[in-house]
Amino acid sequence: MVEASEEVYSSLRRRFKGNLLRPGQSGYEDARAIWNGMVARAPGLIARCADVSDVQNAVRAASEIGILTAVRCGGHSLAGLSTCDGGMVIDLSRMRQVMVDPDARRAWISGGCLLGSVDAATQKAGLVFPSGVVSHTGAGGLILGGGTGWLTRRFGLSCDNVEGFTLVTADGSVVPANSRENPDLFWALRGGGGNFGVVTEFEVRLHPLTAVVLAEGLAPEAEIRPLLEYWRDFMAEAPLDFKWNINLRLAPHTNKVPIELRGRPVASNSLIWTGDPEAGRPYLERVLSMCSPDSANSKIVSFINLQTMADSEFPHGRRYYTKSGYFTYLDDSSIDRMVEAVTTIPSAETQIELAYLGGATARVAAQETAFGDRSALFIMNLLANWSEASADAVNISWIRGLFNKLRPAMKPGVYINFMSGDEQDRVPEAYQERWERMVAVKSHYDPNNFFRLNQNVPPRKLAGKSS
Ligand SMILES: Cc1cc2nc3c(=O)[nH]c(=O)nc-3n(C[C@H](O)[C@H](O)[C@H](O)COP(=O)(O)OP(=O)(O)OC[C@H]3O[C@@H](n4cnc5c(N)ncnc54)[C@H](O)[C@@H]3O)c2cc1C
Repeated sequence: MVEASEEVYSSLRRRFKGNLLRPGQSGYEDARAIWNGMVARAPGLIARCADVSDVQNAVRAASEIGILTAVRCGGHSLAGLSTCDGGMVIDLSRMRQVMVDPDARRAWISGGCLLGSVDAATQKAGLVFPSGVVSHTGAGGLILGGGTGWLTRRFGLSCDNVEGFTLVTADGSVVPANSRENPDLFWALRGGGGNFGVVTEFEVRLHPLTAVVLAEGLAPEAEIRPLLEYWRDFMAEAPLDFKWNINLRLAPHTNKVPIELRGRPVASNSLIWTGDPEAGRPYLERVLSMCSPDSANSKIVSFINLQTMADSEFPHGRRYYTKSGYFTYLDDSSIDRMVEAVTTIPSAETQIELAYLGGATARVAAQETAFGDRSALFIMNLLANWSEASADAVNISWIRGLFNKLRPAMKPGVYINFMSGDEQDRVPEAYQERWERMVAVKSHYDPNNFFRLNQNVPPRKLAGKSS
């Protein structure tokens, strides 16, 4: 692999406009780090592309030599798929341009953008692109996997708001994918992850919004069960303007948290209302009445503040492990299991994240995009977050143990962006009745599985063989 990466380097170095980083060179150590500190790999070459022709050259050189290649936008793959040992990383971090047309309510987002760069550019025009909740996440991986966030109920998934993709496919061609050109590829890219090529540009729809009402509060241990029951039943009828996320966790030891709750199991509630603030007040007040009064507050926040408020909770370089799934209905015994589990959480930063989809997401028919099941409304992400390698086993085993207990009540299916690196066998579960169509599109655009460091859909001729 070292020789192969040297060969790719030699073939690229004269025509490459970006940076080619090899082990030992200045900048390499920073460039090889990804967000999840559990995944420390050493690529033989990092090709930091300056433009589309760099991406084409990198793809062609790597596929000719047959070197293992990862694609990186924001580096936030929970599974650590945007790096590799010995092979090449196509790093898009120099391709972060965002162009906005306020009149058409459209943006053109380069393939290496972080969510923060998208928000900054679109907010200048008073517009939003619905994406995720942490601004240092990459737009590339998030959109290609689906993309859920504060505005999902109101405007749909990120991928539902894509009008077109431009990508470099495995043979180095630049290919458009939209409703008129290559519609099968357009279908597959909306939820199919990095399977089909390097997306160099997303054309997306924007919506007017600059501020929301944000309400937050901690429900103490005794209130968690009733609160989850209320959430489960209420969300089925909730207005589109209302989004309510719940994290079950141990309350942090910070000044913002009432002393009696610190270190205790709580349901941490974050709610937003995107419509007229007065109309949202009764909904928000009802939820806050179940929270400890000293922890509850509500205020109008700018969209940029909303999008960055969780940034520091998920710093780069900590150790993370996740398992995720859907529930059609959150039954009482699943609630009991989650509540019991919080008392045994091994790390204070670990959370059971619960969100309710529905709204605009559920209005898109299942067959319209590759994104998984839209009829399973409750999405759960078990996210372990800790700092020391010596605590890996205890944190991973806590997640696996809880997941195994909850699994029988879950609906088969998984959101590919919330999968960990040891779950490749769950990829068909993510696509279910869409699997065969995914395989057909993959077989057409990437018959040799050049793009395989992703939640991989093997092309037909390689199905059943390990990569
Ligand atoms: C702190 C944090 C917060 C998150 N919050 C949310 C959230 O609110 N909502 C949500 O839906 N998800 C969320 N996620 C999950 C997130 O969607 C995935 O981790 C996603 O893969 C991150 O994208 P990235 O570009 O940063 O990842 P990278 O690690 O850079 O890439 C991941 C994979 O995506 C593919 N890829 C990335 N860019 C391109 C491209 N331009 N062309 C082709 N393939 C590409 C590649 O296959 C690559 O392996 C969050 C993750 C983290 C770590």
